[in-house]
This record gives sequence, structure tokens and C-alpha cells, in this order.
Amino acid sequence: SFHPQRRETRSTCCYCGVGCGVIITTEGQQIVDVKGDPEHPANFGRLCTKGSTLHLTAKLDARALYPELRLSRDLPRTRVSWDTALDHVVERFAEIINTHGPDAVAFYISGQLLTEDYYVFNKLAKGLIGTNNVDTNSRLCMSSAVAGYKATLGADAPPACYEDIDHTQCLFIAGSNTAFAHPIVFRRIEDAKAKNPDMKMVVVDPRRTDTAQLADLHLAILPGTDVALFNGLLHVMLWEGLLDMAYIRNHTEGFEALKETVREYTPKMVADICGVPEADIIQAAKWFGAGPTLSMYCMGLNQSIHGTEKNAALINLHLATGQIGKPGAGPFSLTGQPNAMGGREVGGMANLLSGHRDLANAEHRAEVARLWGVPDVPATPGKTAVEMFEAVKNGEIKAIWIACTNPAHSMPDLNNVLASLQQAELVVLQDAFNNTDSNVYADVFLPASTWGEKEGTVTNSERRITRVQPAAPKPGEARHDWEAVVDFAHRLAQKLGKPDTLFNYPNTETIFNEHRESTRGRDLDITGLSYQILETRGPQQWPFKSGASQGEARLYTDGVFQKPGGKAHFVSAVYKPTADKPDARHPFRLLTGRLRDQWHGMSRTGTLAQLYNHVEEPVVSMHADDMQRRQISEGDIVKLSNKRGELIIKVQQSDEVKPAELFIPMHWGSQFMHGLGVNVLMPPAFDKTSKQPELKHTAVKIEKL
Ligand code: SF4
Repeated sequence: SFHPQRRETRSTCCYCGVGCGVIITTEGQQIVDVKGDPEHPANFGRLCTKGSTLHLTAKLDARALYPELRLSRDLPRTRVSWDTALDHVVERFAEIINTHGPDAVAFYISGQLLTEDYYVFNKLAKGLIGTNNVDTNSRLCMSSAVAGYKATLGADAPPACYEDIDHTQCLFIAGSNTAFAHPIVFRRIEDAKAKNPDMKMVVVDPRRTDTAQLADLHLAILPGTDVALFNGLLHVMLWEGLLDMAYIRNHTEGFEALKETVREYTPKMVADICGVPEADIIQAAKWFGAGPTLSMYCMGLNQSIHGTEKNAALINLHLATGQIGKPGAGPFSLTGQPNAMGGREVGGMANLLSGHRDLANAEHRAEVARLWGVPDVPATPGKTAVEMFEAVKNGEIKAIWIACTNPAHSMPDLNNVLASLQQAELVVLQDAFNNTDSNVYADVFLPASTWGEKEGTVTNSERRITRVQPAAPKPGEARHDWEAVVDFAHRLAQKLGKPDTLFNYPNTETIFNEHRESTRGRDLDITGLSYQILETRGPQQWPFKSGASQGEARLYTDGVFQKPGGKAHFVSAVYKPTADKPDARHPFRLLTGRLRDQWHGMSRTGTLAQLYNHVEEPVVSMHADDMQRRQISEGDIVKLSNKRGELIIKVQQSDEVKPAELFIPMHWGSQFMHGLGVNVLMPPAFDKTSKQPELKHTAVKIEKL
């Protein structure tokens, strides 16, 4: 019905990397409805349960409305003005920087920030303060995908797009419960399968997930054995003559070494390592080789101490069969968070620089310094997520500013992270919600705007940039993340006696335009884009060069890669086991993953009753044989433990897990269950290249209480 103050605003869903477009309805200043944007190429009007209830989360209950400060840990925080809060942080940061150097402060930010927010945080750390200690929760999410792409294809650029789902003949999903984690992509897969019954779907996952249940072939490998499987597939394809030798010759290097490596990965050996039948390995190899093959992968590959090698070993299969750069073919990492891609584009991580540049590259540092008008960008790599909290714990980092993320829930080895937050001299927390596990550790709390209020841009899994427009005003005294950073940067520059010239941003568009300039001539060149184009012509994929009429749907269509000589590189990797191995005392492998209707630490989804209809409480899933052997019944309470901590939780019988394997969703934290969430048990061990920790797997003991 007509309402005089009813407005519609285009934005995106803030939950996952699918990046669905939404249209938000506002009455007066209140968000009252949300629907899928029928014109957005990520979802064509569809939304999943989480996205379609977004408007119900736009209420004030758990929102933080004003800044708070405490001058000592034994005092409660009290309400203060923004001036008081920011001046206090400036004082403390300046004092620490002047006494201990710039590397004694750090920023831990988020793949949920918009690209413009990300850009100014990165510039604040690297351009103004002079430290590379800026890392993000994307380190826990996509950094192995980044490292895998760079090692093989030469650039952090997913080559495929969603439309490839409609053209593929073999969809190879590895380490992704797409049905739950990326539901709208999964709807598209279901449609494609219904339209094309000949399309084959292979799912590699230790669990029989909803995704695996739709597969023509489910390879329920033992946790962490992906590299052995991928090498085995290559071995079979080599033997069966399924490789594209002309493509290998013309567009790649390193094949001879890889051939040597996979020689021993016979179906028999791989079947033994992975715990799947030889015939299934051969079948999967034949379907993959026939193509066109699109592989989709996520945390099952990334959150591993061998995440980079797992990614590379899968990309090897695409290169060796020429299944890349053509419709329906290519490796396609599904981004976990809504804007992990945008964060990578602006280089908002400890080892990256703006425009997909590398911190380790002196010329790249000089280019960014020129762009920013600063003498230099520091060369010393910053601390990555796990290292950062370790450095806070040992006193190397004294002040940490956390924005839009909840490390007291999402980091591995939580007891250690909590000890680290207690040890810090100063914790600044910038968040829209005041119900997160990290909240109690904050000395200074800065209230932020959130979904429906923010403006800027985001990039989804298929390199598509969408303009995010504000539908409602910020509540209370909340500020946009970028605004708080810019205000702080002006004050800090003055305090440190540095020229205050770096943060002249009256709005997000000026930040976007500077970021755009930083991409000139790079693989993600977006010099042909503007806010106006995004608003009038809708979301666009990068690269989108100056003068182009549209972005590129697929990369590497010409077989030229971002490596020296234009040739992609095969990475030879051998199978290595998980960080924690089951033993007599810890005989169970504990796996983690997502639920369909919850998101991350539930600060938003956990406030809605209807999102508990799917799964109403935290449980550990256990196989019936194990329950019988241990005389455990459905609903019994058990204690899971290892050297890092313990977790008390209810048991649910499930045929999704195999005997000797357990599963707990990652969402529940101390706000929603007794004790800390499942990450209290997870190891802080990380991949040596990507520095991504192994949040997917550990070994535990189980005791009935
Ligand atoms: Fe939001 Fe992801 Fe669901 Fe789309 S699939 S509506 S982006 S949570």
C-alpha cells in the first residue's frame, strides 16, 4: 500500500560472499522490509533465510549507541563523547608509538567492512603510523585461496563466475557445504542440475552434508587428505589420457616435476590415504577430465595447515586439463565473508598492499608510497592474525584496535586469545553490536553503523562490485567505520607532528576514487568504473578498464597468466597430515562448519527467534556406532577436551559424520551456550605460506557427564 514516506534503497546482503543484491524498504527512518533485487546478477531476486530476515535485525536491542571508555581494567566502562574517546586513543597510541615504535600498535579488522572502510584502515596503519600490523578475519577465511591462486595463476583473482554453473558438465565441490554456507549459489546449482540431468556433481567432504546428498558422487575423504586425492585424480587422468597436453605445453610450466610427484599416487595408495573406494577416484577423474569442469571450494581447503597446497593441487587439475578460461570451467573459490574480496583489493592485510600489490616487493612499496604521497611504506611484514594475538600476549604489541569482528569467538585456541586480550595495554573495539564475546575486553568502545546504514562498495566471490547505499540513519551516536578512522587519523597526525594531508575524504566516493587509481595497470584494474556507473548500470565485475563498456566475466580466456612469461605454474605438493592427529587419548576427529540459518558469531542472526527453527541449540553430531560403543544416548551431555580446553555439549546422533568423527557448528559462543565455542579446542597451527590457521580440525577426548 502507498505510504507517503516509503522508500526503496538498493544494497547487498551483509552475510556471505555470494553478495546477493537486496532492496530495502524504509518507512520514515525505519527499515521495514527487505527483498531480493531482481536485477542483481548474483541472485536475480532470490534471498536465503538469513538474507530475507535482514530487516528484522535492524532493531536497536543489541546495538551499541554511544562511545564508552574505562581508564583502568578494574573499572566499568562509562559513556563518553567521541572527542573524549578518540583523544584518549590518540594519547595512548602516540605514547606507545613514541616509546616502543610503530610496530607496538596493531589493527585487527574484518571482511565484513566495506571496501572504503578497509582502504582507510590500511592507509592509517601503513601510510600514517608506519606499521604493517593490519590484518583481518579474512586471514581465517580466504588467505589460502589467495596464496593458491598466486602460486599457480600469478594473481589473486577467481577466474570463473556464477554463470559458469549453467554451462558446466562437471561440478566439483571440495571442502564446501554450499547448501548451507552459500545457499543462493546452491539454488543455482539445483536449477542447473534439473535443467541438465547429464551434468555430474562430485562433492569432496568428510561429512555427508546437504550438499553431498545432492551429488552424483560423494568422496567422503578422511579429514585433511585433499592433496592426496587431487594428486590421485591427476595420476588417473594422466594414465587415462585425459590431459590437454597442448594446453600444458603452451600455457604452463612445472609439469614434469608434478608428473614425478603424482607418479606414486595410484588409486590404491590414494584409496588407502583418503578412505574412499578406488573406483570412485577413477570415476571422479573421468568426469573431471571430460569437462567442462567447474570446481567450487571453500573453508575445507582453506582452513588447513596445508591450505595453500590444497588450493594449488586442485588448480593443477584445471591447468592440466585446460579446464580454465572458458564457459563452465575453472577453479572458483567461494568467498566466506561478504567483502573479503574488497579487503584483498585494497591490500588491507599484513603482507599485502593496495591494488593487489605485495609488501615484499620494493617496487610495489614505492608505487604505493608515491600514490599516498608518503616517503615510504614500511618493509617489515606485519603480524598475521594468529601471530598478532601472540605478539599482544607477549607484550610486543601493546595496543590493538579491533573493528567489526569478534576474535574472542572466531580465533583458534580461544583461551590463549582471551589471555592475550587481558594482557594488552589498550584494546579498542569498534562494533555495531554490544553483545559479542570480545566486548568485555574493550577499554574503549566505538559504536559503528551497520547493514542498511552504511555506504560504499563491496566485491563478491565472482569479482563483482556492488554499490551499497544507506537506507536508514545511524542510530544514537554510531559512526561509519571510515568516518571514525578519518577523524582519528587527523587527530593522530597532529599529535605525532606529521603532515595532516593523507585523509582528506569528505565522503566514501573520494576514498573509492583513490582506491580506483591504485588499481591502474594492475590485474584488477577498475579505472573505467565510478559510483555513477555502479548506480546507473548496476554491479560490475573487475577488471573494468578505462574505456571498457563492461567488466570481464572470465579471466585467462587467452591462456595468458599473471606469471613471468605469461605461463601458469604447476605446484608439486605431497600429502601431509593434519596438525592434530588422533591418538589413544584423543581418538575422535572433531570437525567444524556452518549452519544454514546462522552467521559467524551470531551477533546478528542469534537475535532472531525464527532463525532457530532450523537448528535450535548447540550439539555435537556423533555416529550411532560410536554412541553405542560408549553407551551414549541422544541428548546426553558430554565433555570434549584436549590440551587447549574443554567444551560441555549435548550429543545428537547423526549419519552425516563417520565413526570416529564428530561435528560442531562454529557459530555458538559464550553468549549462546555454556562456556566458550568450539574454537577453544582448535589448534593455532597455521599454513606457512598463507598463515591461515587450521580451524576445521582437531583431535579430542570424549567423556559422558
Ligand atoms: Fe545473503 Fe549469502 Fe543468503 Fe545471499 S546467499 S541472501 S548473500 S546469506
